[in-house]
Amino acid sequence: MPKVTEHLANAKDKPVFSIEIIPPAKGGKIDELLHDISPMMELKPPFIDVTYHREEYISVKKEDGTSKEIKTRKRPGTVGICSAIMHKFDVDPVPHVLCGGFTKDENEDLLIDLNYLGIKNVMALRGDHAKPFQTFKPKADGHAYAAELITQIKDMNNGKYLHDETEYLSKSDFCIGAAAYPEKHFEAESEAIDFEHLKTKVKAGAEYLVTQMFFDNQKYFDFVKKCRENGLDIPIIPGLKILSTKKQLSILPKLFYLEMPLDFRNAIEEANDDKAARQIGIEWCITQCKELMDFGVPALHFYTMSKSTTTMAVAKHIF
Ligand code: FAD
Repeated sequence: MPKVTEHLANAKDKPVFSIEIIPPAKGGKIDELLHDISPMMELKPPFIDVTYHREEYISVKKEDGTSKEIKTRKRPGTVGICSAIMHKFDVDPVPHVLCGGFTKDENEDLLIDLNYLGIKNVMALRGDHAKPFQTFKPKADGHAYAAELITQIKDMNNGKYLHDETEYLSKSDFCIGAAAYPEKHFEAESEAIDFEHLKTKVKAGAEYLVTQMFFDNQKYFDFVKKCRENGLDIPIIPGLKILSTKKQLSILPKLFYLEMPLDFRNAIEEANDDKAARQIGIEWCITQCKELMDFGVPALHFYTMSKSTTTMAVAKHIF
Protein backbone atom coordinates (compact mmCIF):
# COMPACT_ATOMS: atom_id res chain seq x y z
CA MET A 1 0.00 0.00 0.00
CA PRO A 2 1.76 3.18 -1.15
CA LYS A 3 2.27 6.21 1.02
CA VAL A 4 0.82 9.63 0.28
CA THR A 5 4.30 10.93 -0.55
CA GLU A 6 4.74 8.11 -3.09
CA HIS A 7 1.39 8.91 -4.71
CA LEU A 8 2.47 12.53 -5.02
CA ALA A 9 5.84 11.59 -6.47
CA ASN A 10 4.18 9.23 -9.00
CA ALA A 11 1.85 11.92 -10.37
CA LYS A 12 3.43 13.24 -13.53
CA ASP A 13 1.34 15.53 -15.75
CA LYS A 14 -1.43 16.50 -13.38
CA PRO A 15 -1.78 16.98 -9.64
CA VAL A 16 -3.32 14.15 -7.66
CA PHE A 17 -7.08 14.37 -7.03
CA SER A 18 -7.70 13.68 -3.35
CA ILE A 19 -10.57 14.16 -0.95
CA GLU A 20 -11.41 14.39 2.73
CA ILE A 21 -14.57 12.72 4.00
CA ILE A 22 -16.21 12.78 7.42
CA PRO A 23 -17.86 9.90 9.27
CA PRO A 24 -21.67 10.09 9.35
CA ALA A 25 -23.38 11.21 12.54
CA LYS A 26 -23.60 8.38 15.11
CA GLY A 27 -25.92 5.62 13.95
CA GLY A 28 -25.42 6.51 10.28
CA LYS A 29 -25.21 3.83 7.61
CA ILE A 30 -21.93 2.87 5.97
CA ASP A 31 -23.80 1.98 2.75
CA GLU A 32 -25.11 5.54 2.50
CA LEU A 33 -21.65 7.00 2.98
CA LEU A 34 -20.17 4.69 0.32
CA HIS A 35 -23.04 5.53 -2.02
CA ASP A 36 -22.58 9.28 -1.47
CA ILE A 37 -18.86 9.25 -2.20
CA SER A 38 -18.92 6.68 -5.01
CA PRO A 39 -19.32 9.23 -7.87
CA MET A 40 -15.91 10.69 -6.89
CA MET A 41 -14.29 7.27 -7.26
CA GLU A 42 -14.60 7.69 -11.02
CA LEU A 43 -11.65 10.09 -10.70
CA LYS A 44 -9.64 7.47 -8.82
CA PRO A 45 -8.36 9.43 -5.83
CA PRO A 46 -5.28 7.46 -4.73
CA PHE A 47 -5.86 8.42 -1.10
CA ILE A 48 -8.82 9.60 0.96
CA ASP A 49 -8.57 11.38 4.29
CA VAL A 50 -11.08 10.38 6.95
CA THR A 51 -11.53 12.88 9.78
CA TYR A 52 -11.53 11.98 13.46
CA HIS A 53 -13.93 13.53 15.94
CA ARG A 54 -13.33 13.92 19.62
CA GLU A 55 -15.92 13.73 22.36
CA GLU A 56 -18.17 16.66 23.18
CA TYR A 57 -20.38 17.52 26.11
CA ILE A 58 -24.09 18.14 25.65
CA SER A 59 -26.79 19.09 28.06
CA VAL A 60 -29.75 16.66 28.34
CA LYS A 61 -32.99 17.19 30.25
CA LYS A 62 -33.70 14.78 33.09
CA GLU A 63 -37.23 13.62 34.02
CA ASP A 64 -37.33 16.00 37.00
CA GLY A 65 -36.83 18.98 34.65
CA THR A 66 -33.21 19.61 35.60
CA SER A 67 -30.47 18.97 33.08
CA LYS A 68 -27.20 17.13 33.17
CA GLU A 69 -24.07 17.17 31.02
CA ILE A 70 -23.27 14.00 29.13
CA LYS A 71 -20.26 13.05 27.09
CA THR A 72 -20.90 11.87 23.54
CA ARG A 73 -18.99 11.33 20.32
CA LYS A 74 -21.15 12.56 17.48
CA ARG A 75 -19.14 11.12 14.60
CA PRO A 76 -17.41 7.90 15.64
CA GLY A 77 -16.21 5.27 13.18
CA THR A 78 -13.08 6.62 11.51
CA VAL A 79 -11.17 3.34 11.63
CA GLY A 80 -14.11 1.26 10.35
CA ILE A 81 -14.67 3.70 7.49
CA CYS A 82 -10.99 3.52 6.56
CA SER A 83 -11.23 -0.24 6.40
CA ALA A 84 -14.49 -0.11 4.40
CA ILE A 85 -13.17 2.31 1.74
CA MET A 86 -9.92 0.38 1.45
CA HIS A 87 -11.84 -2.80 0.58
CA LYS A 88 -14.66 -1.28 -1.44
CA PHE A 89 -12.68 1.20 -3.54
CA ASP A 90 -9.10 -0.03 -3.29
CA VAL A 91 -7.85 3.38 -2.17
CA ASP A 92 -5.36 4.23 0.55
CA PRO A 93 -7.19 5.71 3.52
CA VAL A 94 -5.56 8.42 5.61
CA PRO A 95 -7.14 8.36 9.06
CA HIS A 96 -6.76 11.51 11.10
CA VAL A 97 -5.33 10.96 14.57
CA LEU A 98 -5.91 13.50 17.35
CA CYS A 99 -4.23 14.61 20.54
CA GLY A 100 -7.36 16.23 21.97
CA GLY A 101 -9.53 13.82 23.95
CA PHE A 102 -6.97 11.01 23.93
CA THR A 103 -4.14 9.81 26.14
CA LYS A 104 -0.82 8.79 24.65
CA ASP A 105 -1.72 5.15 25.39
CA GLU A 106 -5.02 5.49 23.52
CA ASN A 107 -3.12 7.01 20.60
CA GLU A 108 -0.74 4.07 20.67
CA ASP A 109 -3.61 1.54 20.70
CA LEU A 110 -5.21 3.30 17.74
CA LEU A 111 -1.93 3.33 15.81
CA ILE A 112 -1.43 -0.38 16.51
CA ASP A 113 -4.91 -1.09 15.10
CA LEU A 114 -4.16 0.98 12.00
CA ASN A 115 -0.86 -0.82 11.57
CA TYR A 116 -2.53 -4.23 11.79
CA LEU A 117 -5.07 -3.10 9.19
CA GLY A 118 -2.19 -2.37 6.82
CA ILE A 119 -2.83 1.39 6.82
CA LYS A 120 0.36 3.24 5.94
CA ASN A 121 -0.69 6.89 6.20
CA VAL A 122 -1.89 9.06 9.06
CA MET A 123 -2.62 12.74 9.48
CA ALA A 124 -1.42 13.87 12.92
CA LEU A 125 -3.42 16.70 14.47
CA ARG A 126 -3.89 18.39 17.78
CA GLY A 127 -7.64 18.80 17.36
CA ASP A 128 -9.76 21.61 18.76
CA HIS A 129 -11.21 22.21 22.20
CA ALA A 130 -14.08 19.95 23.31
CA LYS A 131 -17.42 21.65 22.80
CA PRO A 132 -18.79 23.65 24.58
CA PHE A 133 -15.46 24.70 26.13
CA GLN A 134 -13.52 27.56 24.60
CA THR A 135 -9.93 26.52 25.12
CA PHE A 136 -7.99 23.41 24.26
CA LYS A 137 -6.85 21.28 27.18
CA PRO A 138 -4.98 18.03 26.61
CA LYS A 139 -6.18 14.98 28.48
CA ALA A 140 -4.03 14.03 31.49
CA ASP A 141 -1.20 12.07 29.88
CA GLY A 142 -2.26 13.26 26.44
CA HIS A 143 -0.28 15.33 23.96
CA ALA A 144 -0.63 19.11 24.01
CA TYR A 145 0.54 19.69 20.42
CA ALA A 146 0.57 17.84 17.13
CA ALA A 147 4.39 17.83 17.10
CA GLU A 148 4.37 15.58 20.18
CA LEU A 149 2.00 13.13 18.50
CA ILE A 150 4.22 13.13 15.42
CA THR A 151 7.18 12.24 17.65
CA GLN A 152 5.19 9.34 19.11
CA ILE A 153 4.36 8.03 15.63
CA LYS A 154 7.99 8.42 14.52
CA ASP A 155 9.07 6.51 17.63
CA MET A 156 6.72 3.66 16.68
CA ASN A 157 8.21 3.71 13.19
CA ASN A 158 11.54 3.10 14.95
CA GLY A 159 10.11 0.26 17.05
CA LYS A 160 9.90 2.42 20.19
CA TYR A 161 6.59 2.06 21.99
CA LEU A 162 5.45 3.91 25.09
CA HIS A 163 6.35 1.72 28.03
CA ASP A 164 8.37 -1.07 26.55
CA GLU A 165 11.58 -0.66 24.67
CA THR A 166 12.46 -4.28 23.93
CA GLU A 167 14.15 -4.99 20.64
CA TYR A 168 11.36 -7.40 19.64
CA LEU A 169 8.74 -4.75 18.98
CA SER A 170 7.81 -4.45 15.33
CA LYS A 171 8.32 -1.17 13.56
CA SER A 172 5.37 0.58 12.01
CA ASP A 173 5.91 2.43 8.76
CA PHE A 174 3.52 5.36 8.79
CA CYS A 175 3.82 8.26 6.40
CA ILE A 176 2.86 11.27 8.52
CA GLY A 177 0.92 14.32 7.32
CA ALA A 178 0.34 17.50 9.32
CA ALA A 179 -1.88 20.58 9.06
CA ALA A 180 -0.70 24.00 7.89
CA TYR A 181 -2.40 27.39 7.96
CA PRO A 182 -1.56 29.87 5.18
CA GLU A 183 -3.66 32.45 7.08
CA LYS A 184 -2.17 31.54 10.51
CA HIS A 185 -3.67 29.24 13.11
CA PHE A 186 -6.19 31.27 15.09
CA GLU A 187 -4.59 30.70 18.48
CA ALA A 188 -1.07 31.70 17.49
CA GLU A 189 0.10 35.11 18.70
CA SER A 190 1.73 35.89 15.39
CA GLU A 191 2.48 34.40 11.99
CA ALA A 192 6.15 34.15 12.93
CA ILE A 193 5.43 32.12 16.08
CA ASP A 194 2.97 29.87 14.22
CA PHE A 195 5.60 29.29 11.55
CA GLU A 196 8.18 28.25 14.17
CA HIS A 197 5.68 25.70 15.47
CA LEU A 198 5.12 24.42 11.94
CA LYS A 199 8.88 23.95 11.57
CA THR A 200 8.84 21.88 14.77
CA LYS A 201 6.20 19.57 13.27
CA VAL A 202 8.30 19.03 10.16
CA LYS A 203 11.44 18.48 12.21
CA ALA A 204 9.54 15.94 14.34
CA GLY A 205 8.73 13.91 11.21
CA ALA A 206 5.83 15.34 9.19
CA GLU A 207 6.46 14.30 5.59
CA TYR A 208 3.84 16.43 3.89
CA LEU A 209 1.42 19.21 4.80
CA VAL A 210 -2.23 19.80 3.97
CA THR A 211 -3.43 23.37 4.27
CA GLN A 212 -6.51 24.75 5.85
CA MET A 213 -9.03 25.84 3.21
CA PHE A 214 -8.42 29.22 1.58
CA PHE A 215 -10.25 31.18 -1.11
CA ASP A 216 -7.41 33.54 -2.00
CA ASN A 217 -4.67 31.66 -3.85
CA GLN A 218 -2.15 34.40 -3.12
CA LYS A 219 -2.22 33.34 0.56
CA TYR A 220 -1.15 29.84 -0.49
CA PHE A 221 1.52 31.08 -2.91
CA ASP A 222 3.03 33.36 -0.23
CA PHE A 223 2.93 30.57 2.31
CA VAL A 224 4.69 28.07 0.03
CA LYS A 225 7.34 30.69 -0.80
CA LYS A 226 7.98 31.27 2.89
CA CYS A 227 8.25 27.52 3.53
CA ARG A 228 10.75 27.07 0.71
CA GLU A 229 12.83 30.07 1.83
CA ASN A 230 12.98 28.53 5.28
CA GLY A 231 14.06 25.09 4.13
CA LEU A 232 10.69 23.32 4.38
CA ASP A 233 10.90 21.25 1.23
CA ILE A 234 8.09 18.74 1.80
CA PRO A 235 4.95 18.68 -0.38
CA ILE A 236 2.31 21.27 0.59
CA ILE A 237 -1.14 20.14 -0.54
CA PRO A 238 -3.73 22.90 -0.91
CA GLY A 239 -7.03 22.16 0.82
CA LEU A 240 -10.06 23.40 -1.12
CA LYS A 241 -13.61 24.03 -0.06
CA ILE A 242 -16.35 24.78 -2.57
CA LEU A 243 -18.71 27.38 -1.16
CA SER A 244 -22.24 26.08 -1.68
CA THR A 245 -24.64 28.34 0.28
CA LYS A 246 -24.89 32.09 0.87
CA LYS A 247 -24.65 31.52 4.61
CA GLN A 248 -21.19 29.98 4.27
CA LEU A 249 -19.89 33.41 3.36
CA SER A 250 -20.12 34.35 7.03
CA ILE A 251 -19.83 30.88 8.60
CA LEU A 252 -16.56 29.74 6.98
CA PRO A 253 -14.47 32.78 8.04
CA LYS A 254 -15.75 32.38 11.63
CA LEU A 255 -15.11 28.64 11.77
CA PHE A 256 -11.81 28.55 9.93
CA TYR A 257 -10.35 32.02 10.47
CA LEU A 258 -9.90 32.90 6.82
CA GLU A 259 -10.47 35.94 4.64
CA MET A 260 -12.83 35.93 1.70
CA PRO A 261 -11.50 37.93 -1.28
CA LEU A 262 -13.59 41.05 -1.85
CA ASP A 263 -14.71 40.23 -5.41
CA PHE A 264 -15.80 36.75 -4.33
CA ARG A 265 -17.63 38.17 -1.32
CA ASN A 266 -19.42 40.73 -3.48
CA ALA A 267 -20.45 38.13 -6.04
CA ILE A 268 -21.91 35.83 -3.37
CA GLU A 269 -23.71 38.69 -1.65
CA GLU A 270 -25.34 39.63 -4.93
CA ALA A 271 -26.42 36.04 -5.64
CA ASN A 272 -30.22 35.71 -5.55
CA ASP A 273 -30.30 32.36 -3.78
CA ASP A 274 -28.23 29.37 -2.70
CA LYS A 275 -28.36 27.84 -6.16
CA ALA A 276 -26.78 30.94 -7.67
CA ALA A 277 -24.25 31.14 -4.82
CA ARG A 278 -23.30 27.48 -5.39
CA GLN A 279 -22.66 28.12 -9.06
CA ILE A 280 -20.39 31.08 -8.19
CA GLY A 281 -18.64 28.88 -5.61
CA ILE A 282 -18.04 26.19 -8.23
CA GLU A 283 -16.69 28.66 -10.78
CA TRP A 284 -14.45 30.30 -8.18
CA CYS A 285 -13.00 26.93 -7.22
CA ILE A 286 -12.40 25.97 -10.86
CA THR A 287 -10.38 29.19 -11.29
CA GLN A 288 -8.51 28.48 -8.06
CA CYS A 289 -7.66 24.94 -9.24
CA LYS A 290 -6.40 26.14 -12.62
CA GLU A 291 -4.11 28.74 -11.03
CA LEU A 292 -2.88 26.20 -8.48
CA MET A 293 -2.10 23.74 -11.27
CA ASP A 294 -0.11 26.42 -13.12
CA PHE A 295 1.78 26.96 -9.88
CA GLY A 296 2.65 23.24 -9.84
CA VAL A 297 0.80 21.94 -6.78
CA PRO A 298 1.30 18.24 -5.99
CA ALA A 299 -2.41 17.57 -5.38
CA LEU A 300 -5.80 19.26 -5.22
CA HIS A 301 -7.44 18.15 -2.00
CA PHE A 302 -11.17 18.73 -1.60
CA TYR A 303 -13.01 19.08 1.69
CA THR A 304 -16.14 17.24 0.56
CA MET A 305 -18.10 16.62 3.79
CA SER A 306 -18.74 13.20 2.14
CA LYS A 307 -20.85 14.69 -0.67
CA SER A 308 -19.94 14.42 -4.35
CA THR A 309 -22.02 16.92 -6.29
CA THR A 310 -20.06 20.18 -6.05
CA THR A 311 -16.67 18.45 -6.02
CA MET A 312 -17.57 16.60 -9.23
CA ALA A 313 -18.86 19.84 -10.79
CA VAL A 314 -15.39 21.33 -10.25
CA ALA A 315 -13.30 18.24 -10.87
CA LYS A 316 -14.80 17.42 -14.28
CA HIS A 317 -13.27 20.70 -15.54
CA ILE A 318 -9.86 19.87 -14.10
CA PHE A 319 -9.14 16.13 -14.20
P1 FAD B 1 -0.75 22.25 16.30
O1 FAD B 1 0.18 22.14 15.18
O2 FAD B 1 -0.42 21.54 17.56
O3 FAD B 1 -0.94 23.81 16.62
C1 FAD B 1 -2.02 24.26 17.42
C2 FAD B 1 -1.67 25.65 17.95
O4 FAD B 1 -0.64 25.55 18.94
C3 FAD B 1 -1.13 26.63 16.89
O5 FAD B 1 -1.58 27.91 17.21
C4 FAD B 1 0.38 26.53 17.06
O6 FAD B 1 1.05 27.71 16.64
C5 FAD B 1 0.49 26.34 18.58
N1 FAD B 1 1.66 25.55 19.00
C6 FAD B 1 2.19 24.47 18.41
N2 FAD B 1 3.24 24.00 19.12
C7 FAD B 1 3.36 24.82 20.20
C8 FAD B 1 4.26 24.88 21.33
N3 FAD B 1 5.25 23.97 21.48
N4 FAD B 1 4.08 25.87 22.24
C9 FAD B 1 3.06 26.78 22.10
N5 FAD B 1 2.21 26.78 21.05
C10 FAD B 1 2.34 25.81 20.14
N6 FAD B 1 -9.76 18.61 13.67
C11 FAD B 1 -10.38 17.51 14.15
O7 FAD B 1 -10.87 17.51 15.27
N7 FAD B 1 -10.44 16.37 13.39
C12 FAD B 1 -9.89 16.28 12.16
O8 FAD B 1 -9.97 15.22 11.52
C13 FAD B 1 -9.24 17.43 11.63
N8 FAD B 1 -8.66 17.41 10.40
C14 FAD B 1 -7.98 18.51 9.95
C15 FAD B 1 -7.31 18.45 8.72
C16 FAD B 1 -6.62 19.57 8.23
C17 FAD B 1 -5.91 19.48 6.89
C18 FAD B 1 -6.60 20.77 8.98
C19 FAD B 1 -5.89 21.98 8.44
C20 FAD B 1 -7.25 20.83 10.21
C21 FAD B 1 -7.93 19.71 10.72
N9 FAD B 1 -8.56 19.72 11.95
C22 FAD B 1 -9.20 18.60 12.43
C23 FAD B 1 -8.56 20.94 12.77
C24 FAD B 1 -7.34 21.00 13.72
O9 FAD B 1 -7.42 19.97 14.66
C25 FAD B 1 -7.36 22.36 14.41
O10 FAD B 1 -7.10 23.38 13.48
C26 FAD B 1 -6.49 22.50 15.63
O11 FAD B 1 -6.89 23.70 16.31
C27 FAD B 1 -5.00 22.59 15.37
O12 FAD B 1 -4.47 21.41 15.01
P2 FAD B 1 -2.92 21.29 14.55
O13 FAD B 1 -2.63 19.87 14.37
O14 FAD B 1 -2.65 22.23 13.46
O15 FAD B 1 -2.23 21.82 15.92
